[in-house]
Amino acid sequence: MTTIVDAHVHLDLYPDPYQVVRECRQEGVYALCMTTTPKAWDGTSILVGDAPRIRCAIGLHPQLAFERKEELPLLLRLMWETPYVGELGLDGAMPVETHATQRLVLTKALERADELGGRVVSLHSRRAAGAVLEVIEQHADRNLLILHWFSGTASQLRDAAAMGCWFSVGPAMLHSKKGRALVGAMPRDRVLTETDGPFAKVKGRPLHPRDARRACSSIAAAWDMSDAEVAQLVVSNFRRLGEYAVDRRTEGGS
Ligand code: MN
Repeated sequence: MTTIVDAHVHLDLYPDPYQVVRECRQEGVYALCMTTTPKAWDGTSILVGDAPRIRCAIGLHPQLAFERKEELPLLLRLMWETPYVGELGLDGAMPVETHATQRLVLTKALERADELGGRVVSLHSRRAAGAVLEVIEQHADRNLLILHWFSGTASQLRDAAAMGCWFSVGPAMLHSKKGRALVGAMPRDRVLTETDGPFAKVKGRPLHPRDARRACSSIAAAWDMSDAEVAQLVVSNFRRLGEYAVDRRTEGGS
């Protein structure tokens, strides 16, 4: 059985989240579970329980940043408990009056991540790649930043790669020609697979964490490698990320 890595998934948002977690455990899927609001942290931690290959990230999604801005202090407080942060970022497709709050949330969270000695951060950048890069630049040295479902330009991708960013790519992103072209230029030792399930769908069906494996074939085609080699590389990248995270666990945190 091949090992599957889903570096960006919203386990708590599936219609039957406990069933999905059970399946991930049975199938040995490595998953990094995002939260979209800090208030979801406790419930998601309970959901994931002691699953050895699943980790929870604490986040405040840019699409919710404006309406949930009063949860920012909770986000900053909970960031002490885990080395994983997400989902954070900026969303340029959201109403313009939310942009300043989105930026404030992202900036404050990254400042806190610096203070805590570094965090693994999964970042959303829909129609805001340039703005996200501008904000994260000064935090790139102290954190392990993952651009999830990156859809910026080739030159923005080069800038991000030069900053040391990682990338997580999924089947939905790889459906587009542009997405596949971007993958070709990603640094191979900093690429992970993801689903963004259950938000991301293929043919109308929400992706299951195990579907992250499907991204390997498109990546393999872009890199002229075999599926198995890509799958192996992704697992080894994910292990490196795990080592980074373990080194940053706070005393008493999880
Ligand atoms: Mn997401």
